[in-house]
Amino acid sequence: MLERSKKLSVHVRYNTQVARINETTDSVNVSFQNGDVESYELVVGADGIHSGLRKMVFGEEHQFSHYLGYGVAAFQTAHRDEIGSSVKIYQEPNRSSIYYPVSGKAMDSVFLFPCENTERVAKEDYKNVLLNTYAGSKWINQEVIQNTPNDSIGFFDVLKQIQMPTWMKSRVCLVRDACACLSPIAGQGASTAMLEAYVLSNELKKSTNVQECLARYESILKPDIECRQALARHIANRFVPASVKEIVWYRWLTRMEFSSLLVHRTANGFKGKIHQI
Ligand SMILES: Cc1cc2nc3c(=O)[nH]c(=O)nc-3n(C[C@H](O)[C@H](O)[C@H](O)COP(=O)(O)OP(=O)(O)OC[C@H]3O[C@@H](n4cnc5c(N)ncnc54)[C@H](O)[C@@H]3O)c2cc1C
Repeated sequence: MLERSKKLSVHVRYNTQVARINETTDSVNVSFQNGDVESYELVVGADGIHSGLRKMVFGEEHQFSHYLGYGVAAFQTAHRDEIGSSVKIYQEPNRSSIYYPVSGKAMDSVFLFPCENTERVAKEDYKNVLLNTYAGSKWINQEVIQNTPNDSIGFFDVLKQIQMPTWMKSRVCLVRDACACLSPIAGQGASTAMLEAYVLSNELKKSTNVQECLARYESILKPDIECRQALARHIANRFVPASVKEIVWYRWLTRMEFSSLLVHRTANGFKGKIHQI
């Protein structure tokens, strides 16, 4: 992407952030923290679930946050033989872990657990919270947490979605997690990010009227993204079953849903939608 930006003479700014945004009728004036000021026809906020641009233009995060009841921590560590070469999900009542082999040498570890506290945990407490939550946990869970320095725990947050009445305001729009985070459990954040960028750029090619393009971008995608969010909310508790009975039930249900007959039917159902886009 960086190479392509260079070829197109896109100016990439490092070590600075947007400090202020002022909209006029035909442009958006952006002031950067390093003192630079630029004027643009369109500003796209792609700065993730805790988007600063969203806060500046649309308001505080809590207005759009929908908490799903779980905490999530994720980090990368050295690969362990127990993982082998496929994803492993390990569940105990009220605490789950997912291990992904990244290469022969590393693995991603994700921990999901019920979490009442909707405030963000302080960085220096990440490891202690995990150690307490997974105290007595079996298989490799405790060892992985014990062997990981607090500073290596790169991601620790509550599981939530961002739901907004609109993704655009005049000449500013948001994409992906900034406007419609599905939550990590949906497993579709990266692919829908590309889909949204593709649809937005396609619409922008069609007309010089930026607001019309943004309105079309939103109307094409928002209904579909809202369905994906509803599905993610619906399945959230499957990732952290509350009892052994629930673990067994959800495992059976998931096997049924991924049975070849149903996968075939679902894929056929999607075909029409993909062609429409
Ligand atoms: C633990 C975990 C597991 C996941 N698993 C999957 C999966 O298996 N499959 C899948 O498809 N998705 C998965 N996701 C979701 C996926 O990672 C996100 O949906 C996706 O990355 C969102 O893309 P984004 O560009 O909107 O935001 P991000 O990827 O969060 O990117 C935002 C970027 O903006 C930068 N930024 C933030 N603030 C500023 C600022 N003020 N100025 C400049 N830059 C800024 C950030 O540094 C970051 O680089 C997972 C997420 C998590 C947390």
